[in-house]
Amino acid sequence: MESYNSFKVAQQQVMESAKLLNLDQATIELLIYPQREFKFTFPVRMDDGKVKVFHAWRIQYNYARGPAKGGIRFHPEETVDTIRALACWMTWKTAVVDLPLGGGKGGVCCDPKTMSERELEAVSRGYIRAIAPIIGIERDIPAPDVYTNPQTMTWMMDEYETIVNNHQPGILTDKPQQVGGTEGRRDATARGGVINVREACKVYGFDPTKTYAIQGFGNAGQRAALLHQEILGGGKLIAVSDSRAAIFNPDGFDPKELVMHKLKTGTVKNFPGAKEIQHNELLTLDVEILYPAALENAITSQNADNIKAKIISELANGPTTPEADIILNKKGVHVIPDILASAGGVTVSYFEMVQDKYSYFWDEEQVQQRLDKKISKAYHTVQEALREKKIHPRLAAMVVGVARVAEACKLRGWV
Ligand code: GLU
Repeated sequence: MESYNSFKVAQQQVMESAKLLNLDQATIELLIYPQREFKFTFPVRMDDGKVKVFHAWRIQYNYARGPAKGGIRFHPEETVDTIRALACWMTWKTAVVDLPLGGGKGGVCCDPKTMSERELEAVSRGYIRAIAPIIGIERDIPAPDVYTNPQTMTWMMDEYETIVNNHQPGILTDKPQQVGGTEGRRDATARGGVINVREACKVYGFDPTKTYAIQGFGNAGQRAALLHQEILGGGKLIAVSDSRAAIFNPDGFDPKELVMHKLKTGTVKNFPGAKEIQHNELLTLDVEILYPAALENAITSQNADNIKAKIISELANGPTTPEADIILNKKGVHVIPDILASAGGVTVSYFEMVQDKYSYFWDEEQVQQRLDKKISKAYHTVQEALREKKIHPRLAAMVVGVARVAEACKLRGWV
């Protein structure tokens, strides 16, 4: 039976890696559960005058390598297990790119699409007020994730600074530059995903100037559409999707126009010259490179067998189920796993933390060069593990990340 419980999937991945690394029972026990979980509710007065109570979480999965780090999601289907899984994955993600950080995640069960700007601000401030006692620049640093953004971060930072009566911009990352943000953070997740594709093409000889498709057209998807052509020197974007529509054009879309259309109308639907297709069709199109950039469990045993892409660069967290992974591996699809493909975002978040600490800011070129170096190095480290242990890329990335975290736990005398 295919498992759609993301946390069970995440635990299974840790156990598989632990076996390959011969980790002892206590270390495994430590790594398959979050170190700290905080579940809470908070009330917000909505525009209609009624009070609504929101359920929310902040989970600090592991902080052996440094303060917990990871985004905050606003999503109607959020559960404790989605947050646990995402916090778990953040732990290996920061380790795989060798950042001095642990992993965490937070979430509010809410539907931002039905909320006004004022309600979103009230929820953001309510959330950070509740977690203020457990976070901190040296303890846990949140960032955006699904349906949160630099504006959300700014409201939260403002509320936090009011509570602590101190200027502390480094408490959250991916802020606008006017309030302590860094150059290059907004496109960092996509940039990291495309740099991984560039390295994969060098190793495996695939042609990045052929076709590509993007599932999910939020921040990461939109930036990947543009950066793919910029970094790889070509490529034809033939399909994209968001929650409202999936569209296709065999002659290729102009990524800039498509992004403009999305920003103007809020969806990719009705883009001139596009043919609307089924959401599931997008994933199985005949493309060279596929970027899943939406939510968990998009590629499953139901559709994996029909996937024709040669490279999958996972900009989303957890888009592929373990069953689908096995199928893709057998088919010879090169999957660049989420903890590596989407690590560009948290890498530049770390750069933002460093700059906020010094209150001295780098230029865009410096940020991009340092990001490129970190991601390329991580890609090739994972390649080494993959060759040495003859395992598929996700397991190889997990092995690199889990080994580093286990080592830190051991050095601290925890296990
Ligand atoms: N939410 C992003 C992720 O899943 C970024 C996290 C961060 O920058 O802390 O990687």
